[in-house]
Amino acid sequence: YQKIELSKNRKDEMTQMGIAFNEMMEQLEENYNKQEQFVSDASHELKTPLTVIESYAKLLSRHGFKNKAIAEESVNAIINETARMKEMITQMLVLAKGNGQQTQKTETIDLYELVESTLQSMRTAYNRNFILKGEGPIYVNTDMEQLTQLLFIILDNARKYSEKEIKTTISEDEENTVVAILDYGNGIPKKDINYIFDRFYRVDEARNRKTGGTGLGLSIAKEIANRLSIKLEIDSTVGFGTTIYIFIPKSPILINF
Ligand code: ADP
Repeated sequence: YQKIELSKNRKDEMTQMGIAFNEMMEQLEENYNKQEQFVSDASHELKTPLTVIESYAKLLSRHGFKNKAIAEESVNAIINETARMKEMITQMLVLAKGNGQQTQKTETIDLYELVESTLQSMRTAYNRNFILKGEGPIYVNTDMEQLTQLLFIILDNARKYSEKEIKTTISEDEENTVVAILDYGNGIPKKDINYIFDRFYRVDEARNRKTGGTGLGLSIAKEIANRLSIKLEIDSTVGFGTTIYIFIPKSPILINF
């Protein structure tokens, strides 16, 4: 009787091990596929600016020495596309590093002061009206450096995809401190909203080309948000503008990868 009981247990253990093994393999396969997809997307995305650079370099060598306007246009395009490629590579490195062992610090910071100083850097760099409503201090526990990076990504998008002032407010609900960043820009069509956090996804690439983005900013923002247990929400209306909400939990669970 005892023997049967033992082997039954062993059978359960074997089943459990089998299930755990399958789950592990599925996870490995998923990670591998994601990695493969990333390499293939990255190569494709890097090829686009390179093709533009190549064609302008050819144009420059064929006509640029006789025609000053063509020379100027070509050189500018080459400079812009090189800058875009450089930015893309920098962001890819950030994403690659995120896959490694990135650790989070928790520190108590004055969010109001952090947002204000980030806005001040944006004002200086872009000569735009970045408004902060309300008053500080408002304390949160989070990783300051990573939150700053997240704020820069969202603010930079608000600036790139709009022309008027950008308004930031900080409020609180029971569980979160909420930063809302509002712009009066193009807005994001409903059909695109679910994809804009995907790597390399850009709404209307042709129209966006002049903004010189990479399509990687929001995927980095999402990764930072996951690490810091921050929730991001978008409220956008085409032709009116976009608000991005950043929910910073009052009792954060920081995930170390
Ligand atoms: P990009 O480098 O293209 O800005 P992101 O990943 O940061 O890449 O954003 C993805 C896309 O989401 C952008 O190309 C743009 O089409 C759209 N987007 C992001 N933020 C805004 C915004 N505030 N207003 C309008 N569109 C936006």
